[in-house]
Amino acid sequence: MEQAIVIGAGPCGLSAAIELQRIGLNPLVIEKHCLVHSIYRYPTHLQFFSTPELLEIGSVPFTTPHDKPFRHEALVYYRKVAEQYQLRISSYEEATHIRKEDDGRFTLHTKLRNGSALTREARFVVIATGYFDHPNLLGIPGESLPHVTHYFQEAHPYAGMNVIIIGGNNSAVDASLELLRAGANVTVVYRGHELSDNIKPWVRPIFESMITKERIHMRFSSQVVSIEQDRVHIQDSEGKVDYVACDFVLALTGFRPDRKLLTESGVDLQDDREKPVFHENSMETNVPGLYVAGVIASGRNANEVFIETGRHHGRLIAEHIVATMEQ
Ligand code: FAD
Repeated sequence: MEQAIVIGAGPCGLSAAIELQRIGLNPLVIEKHCLVHSIYRYPTHLQFFSTPELLEIGSVPFTTPHDKPFRHEALVYYRKVAEQYQLRISSYEEATHIRKEDDGRFTLHTKLRNGSALTREARFVVIATGYFDHPNLLGIPGESLPHVTHYFQEAHPYAGMNVIIIGGNNSAVDASLELLRAGANVTVVYRGHELSDNIKPWVRPIFESMITKERIHMRFSSQVVSIEQDRVHIQDSEGKVDYVACDFVLALTGFRPDRKLLTESGVDLQDDREKPVFHENSMETNVPGLYVAGVIASGRNANEVFIETGRHHGRLIAEHIVATMEQ
């Protein structure tokens, strides 16, 4: 039986694994994809909004010549941290079910890349599965067409194309500027009546200027209500309907954590069933010995936890486990 299993090798899961190591445990990290898969799936040229020291885990310095690191630097950083701590990571293994047994241990069912199933046992389990696999779906006709994506990688494939971006937060703003530089014809459709206050302050004036110069076509207070092969159907807040030609649709509407693993293992949900029940001081859920770390602990607003804050959850968990083992 494992002493502890951490599910998810994102920054917060890795941080939790390091903290567990520091109290003398030898945790196993189970990761469905590759190490820090969410960061791997960020737009290729993304620059973080956080400064490097706020992304650090395990007290390992994150050095970069930039004031804010780029995606590829973060990939190297988290790889090096995992290497330095010699974390036991089983990549391409997905946790599919967790059960608490009558004697207190946990049984985990997992699935390997080749389809075979494994059963593992642990005394403590930390769920740090993040949110990136589950985009907020629009639920509109045409959303599953092949020219529609919820993930923006890079602008090159869109050069010379009519692109509709749905959303008005940083991902939409960054993507629209990058697309513009690559020569795409960009229309941004956003249901808000003005730009979000969360737009990075150093990007906001550039984006506003592109709107003013009509190099980016901004549709405030509007929603895409259906997507067809070569056009989208846009409706504004007064009900006025319009068709706009498009070759590609980027629906950059954010992500939400999947709570299935949690609820199936007995964790209750609160706040309109949007947030797991857990103790803020220990991150332990209502199932003793089962903890949450990182974005999975957030409520309706999945961005209320991010690397800067979620990286500290592991320390709380480790302190609580020490106290539990001393009892
Ligand atoms: P994740 O990083 O999502 O990691 C979860 C891991 O669990 C994944 O690797 C996933 O594959 C794995 N997993 C999921 N389900 C299973 C399963 N069933 N079995 C096994 N493994 C599983 N935050 C900041 O602090 N600063 C920034 O500048 C910043 N910039 C961002 C830019 C973009 C474009 C985006 C999208 C996010 C940004 N964030 C930033 C937010 C940050 O990425 C998240 O807060 C962070 O990734 C959360 O870490 P986590 O460890 O909780 O989850």
